[in-house]
Amino acid sequence: MRTDAFALRHIGPRESDLNHMFKTIGVESFDQLIYETIPDDIRLKNDLQLAPAMTEYEYLTHIQELGKKNKVFKSYIGLGYHPTIVPAVIQRNIFENPGWYTAYTPYQAEIAQGRLEAILNFQTMVIELTGMEIANASLLDEGTAAAEAMALLFDVRSREQKKDNVCKFFVSEEILPQTLSVLQTRSTPIGVELVVGNHETFDFSSDFFGAILQYPGKYGQVNDYAAFIAKANENEIKVAVAADILSLAKLTSPGEMGAAVVVGTTQRFGIPMGYGGPHAAYFATKEEYKRSMPGRIIGVSIDANGRRALRMALGTREQHIKREKATSNICTAQVLLAVMAGMYAVYHGPKGLKYIANKVHASAVTLADALNKLGVYQTNTAFFDTISVKADSAKVKAIAEKHEVNFFYVDNDTISISINETTSLSDLNQVIAIFAEATGKEAFKVSELSSNNNIPTSLERTSTFLQHEVFNNHHSESQLMRYIKKLERKDLSLNHSMISLGSCTMKLNAAAEMLPLSMANWNSIHPFAPIEQAEGYITMLKKLEQQLNVVTGFAGTTLQPNSGAQGEYAGLMAIRAYHQSRGDNHRNVCLIPSSAHGTNPASAAMAGMKIIVTKTMENGNIDVEDLRARAIEHKDNLSALMVTYPSTHGVFESAICEITKIIHDNGGLVYMDGANMNAQVGLTNPATIGADVCHLNLHKTFAIPHGGGGPGVGPICVNEKLVPFLPSNPIVKVGGDQAITAISAAPYGSALVCLISYGYITMLGAEGLKKSTEHAILNANYMKARLEAHYPVLYSGEMGRAAHEMILDCRAFKQNGIEVTDIAKRLMDYGFHAPTVSFPVAGTLMIEPTESEDLAELDRFCDAMISIRKEIDAASADDTNNVLKNAPHTLAMLTTDTWTYPYTREQAAYPLDYIHENKFWPSVRRVDDAYGDRNLVCSCAPIEAYM
Ligand SMILES: *Cc1c(COP(=O)(O)O)cnc(C)c1O
Repeated sequence: MRTDAFALRHIGPRESDLNHMFKTIGVESFDQLIYETIPDDIRLKNDLQLAPAMTEYEYLTHIQELGKKNKVFKSYIGLGYHPTIVPAVIQRNIFENPGWYTAYTPYQAEIAQGRLEAILNFQTMVIELTGMEIANASLLDEGTAAAEAMALLFDVRSREQKKDNVCKFFVSEEILPQTLSVLQTRSTPIGVELVVGNHETFDFSSDFFGAILQYPGKYGQVNDYAAFIAKANENEIKVAVAADILSLAKLTSPGEMGAAVVVGTTQRFGIPMGYGGPHAAYFATKEEYKRSMPGRIIGVSIDANGRRALRMALGTREQHIKREKATSNICTAQVLLAVMAGMYAVYHGPKGLKYIANKVHASAVTLADALNKLGVYQTNTAFFDTISVKADSAKVKAIAEKHEVNFFYVDNDTISISINETTSLSDLNQVIAIFAEATGKEAFKVSELSSNNNIPTSLERTSTFLQHEVFNNHHSESQLMRYIKKLERKDLSLNHSMISLGSCTMKLNAAAEMLPLSMANWNSIHPFAPIEQAEGYITMLKKLEQQLNVVTGFAGTTLQPNSGAQGEYAGLMAIRAYHQSRGDNHRNVCLIPSSAHGTNPASAAMAGMKIIVTKTMENGNIDVEDLRARAIEHKDNLSALMVTYPSTHGVFESAICEITKIIHDNGGLVYMDGANMNAQVGLTNPATIGADVCHLNLHKTFAIPHGGGGPGVGPICVNEKLVPFLPSNPIVKVGGDQAITAISAAPYGSALVCLISYGYITMLGAEGLKKSTEHAILNANYMKARLEAHYPVLYSGEMGRAAHEMILDCRAFKQNGIEVTDIAKRLMDYGFHAPTVSFPVAGTLMIEPTESEDLAELDRFCDAMISIRKEIDAASADDTNNVLKNAPHTLAMLTTDTWTYPYTREQAAYPLDYIHENKFWPSVRRVDDAYGDRNLVCSCAPIEAYM
């Protein structure tokens, strides 16, 4: 037997463990287990048609070779993406560090204080640079952040009760083309009418609820928007500004000009271009709009000792609560990238950022002057980093490409050139030489940067920013390295223990899958570079699309959506376009079972659909008769059903084919939420159950790490009917021949991290993928077998099996005064992250071990749960001073001179033996959520500053 197969590294249980596990479950073999788990009529008859698996070594060689087909040219393309210097200390200690990238979204605040602090830094950085009052913890990209701004302004337009019937939104023609495309997609279904035009000739007296401006404009023009915004505000028109974050170190902030929302990307703060993503977008607004703000917000609160502690704020306004009333569906965002961008600001500090911005500006001025001398005229009246010049585009392009340089060619005689942090004097001289050659003039060299300024005095930033000590104390590498480590140590990630979050599939993110992300010919390509320069990427992305087609049984895939929720939205918009192409414009009813994930109704609402919630039966399954009745009732207007399979309850419902048929018979299409795909791969697939489209969470099933709450990739895979409607991009040709407009800013979304899933599938191959699914189901059923004597397991399949996850019912423990949260917090003392709490059923825990966890780890977790069960039995409702209610226990508690609790220190911190080997100390006591929401503080500034 070969021992170098990747499957052996990816999958936890050893061959020799299987008998014991089968015996515990009560089956003879995998065949029997799978037979008892997945309905026979939907089982695949053949293996997936995929290339033979590569070993890790073979894959790394392959990806290095393929990488050589990407040509890294000097990029001056701009348009929201810039070469940047990733500080090596950040690359090594965060980007390449599983302590950071394998963490989950910080729902369990006590074991997430590190990344919570890092995100608070990010929010503070955004608030101060934009001049706004409040910022969120990141969004997916600048295009969608702009769309979220539009949606927010549309949502709050009736607050002043003057604009509630007004649907027009003005978009400056200076907006980035990809942002415009996303705005087009997002405006139509919610009833917003976009009007694109010149802000200087805008008619303020007409009926608009809002406007968006680009600062600086798409080809670099810097406009003073103060008068526009003031006039708009007088006319009850709220203004959003999409702003370049680096320019704000030098330019008057949009907040100071009166903007209501400021959005943009933080890519150029040390995040590789990665052929389009992932990067953290930012979103900042005013306090008064905080309850309409999309995405997550990190806030300051206190712990049980009254000490400062961070947590996600305003949890009750989260999308899963808003459901069909939601105006945004953001769940996964871009936390890892926000952490990196925030650290970039911590490392450089206000002086460093100002220095970089000044240097970039001086380089642009120097270049403009030099080109001017060649007779190549610069047309922006004011600029920060991007100049727009008049020259023969075709001629320049030919010469530039020979020198491995990319500019952006606006039209036949206009070229836009964006300077960035990496641009050196010799780079400037190369650009000068290119234009000299194109114009037949003699080249000359500049030897120093100009000290001239091309920013009007009125726009020179005078306000200070980033004065807080965190941005002024970590400027040496030792300081930053230790700061990063200090934060990392507060967080529990997959490099400490299993994270059994149901529905989230926290599996191994293998090092071999991650390594290529650091390779320059993969991470330094601009998304709008000519595709001949991205042959490696195109090959990899096409292969990945093909692999996902095979896995889902579908005909086409788009990788554009940057999260599962974006995938849902993309899929519903494709369904909408399909109906419209057949003249069925009225089909707008979307059926959604009540157990659905909150993003499902939120996405349907954003797609302009009317949501009908269908019933779930006592046993957790979809109530087929209710579904049939609703489908028939709405058959004239039925658009789609959204269904999660296996269900959010972790069960393969045997009625699934009947369900999909009911929908088709009544004129609708079936959208399958693929978050639970880890239970299907290689054994069944969405096409077989009768779905028309599904999204996949590559950051769940296909090994992209969660990064503490992002990045994500949520491709949609579709059958032939929907292929023509896959989304486009205004600059790079992608999508179907009747493509909808863009879902994300970049043509291939977060292309860089697609490498991870490509590596995952390529190294596992058909057999390894199937084995992974079988082991995921094995692990879940093994845990179920061990735990069901101690905790009631809600819902199983018809033969008593779970799929890849199971729900433990903790509601009865209320009689002992114990809530499900107490169990979640107590698990921290045992060194574990809690499973999913209260989804899809309140008062429960949903456990998903994944295939990557080995038997010993599963046993430790089960031992912890069983031990906690004994503690629950010993607890009583009238005495809340117990080991569960006081959990988690910090080292500070344990080492106080007097110990006053009615249990021993050992019971508190070392309740089981294995913990002595590998103790994890929560850094704060239980965090008070309500206090934080009542006293909302979302930046590093001391609380007094906000009083
Ligand atoms: C995770 C999840 C989603 C949303 O995915 P994101 O990538 O977080 O947007 C949707 N549905 C289900 C069932 C999920 O588990």
